Amino acid sequence: MITMKDIIIEGNPLLREKCELVKIPMSEEDKKTMEEMIDYIFNSIDEEISKKYDLRPAVGIAAPQIGINKKMLVIYSYDEKGNEHFYPMVNPKLVSYSDELTYLEGGEGCLSVTRETKGYIHRSKRVTVDTYLYYEGKLKKVTLRLKGYLAIIFQHEFDHLNGVLFVDHINKENPFYVPSNSSPVVFKGEEEE
Ligand code: ZN
Repeated sequence: MITMKDIIIEGNPLLREKCELVKIPMSEEDKKTMEEMIDYIFNSIDEEISKKYDLRPAVGIAAPQIGINKKMLVIYSYDEKGNEHFYPMVNPKLVSYSDELTYLEGGEGCLSVTRETKGYIHRSKRVTVDTYLYYEGKLKKVTLRLKGYLAIIFQHEFDHLNGVLFVDHINKENPFYVPSNSSPVVFKGEEEE
């Protein structure tokens, strides 16, 4: 089981490497990595388990964060409308992205970044992703269209596969700069009247 001591922290050069493609069909070792990442996410949001093992809750994790430099990531979250999404991805490829941007007003967080950070990260509002999805040891090739919050989570995790951290994107002179083509994610119940 993955706990915080297994998570690679900012400053470790392993987080800055580009990841390799996973060989298909997947090896047992790669399957184990996927299972461990999936378990981490679900453990981290389980009140009892996360408390017992002191896990930081996460909506996503990428293989380099546990020291495996292969193109694998897991996303589990609700979108701004309250719909559940679970994407255990193998060899994801970003095939297109919008010029229109979006961002989280509370900024982003990362298991691998333990210091306090401030600032907005502007990302494409819509992305199209070709990927394998991993479900119980089997792979299915799909094209996903993600938008808003899910698009942000995907781009954050996908960045990890290229050695990029969210803090790299924060405007150093003006961390809260908002370009004219960017608008914040609005979650259900937070809409202005
Ligand atoms: Zn991260």
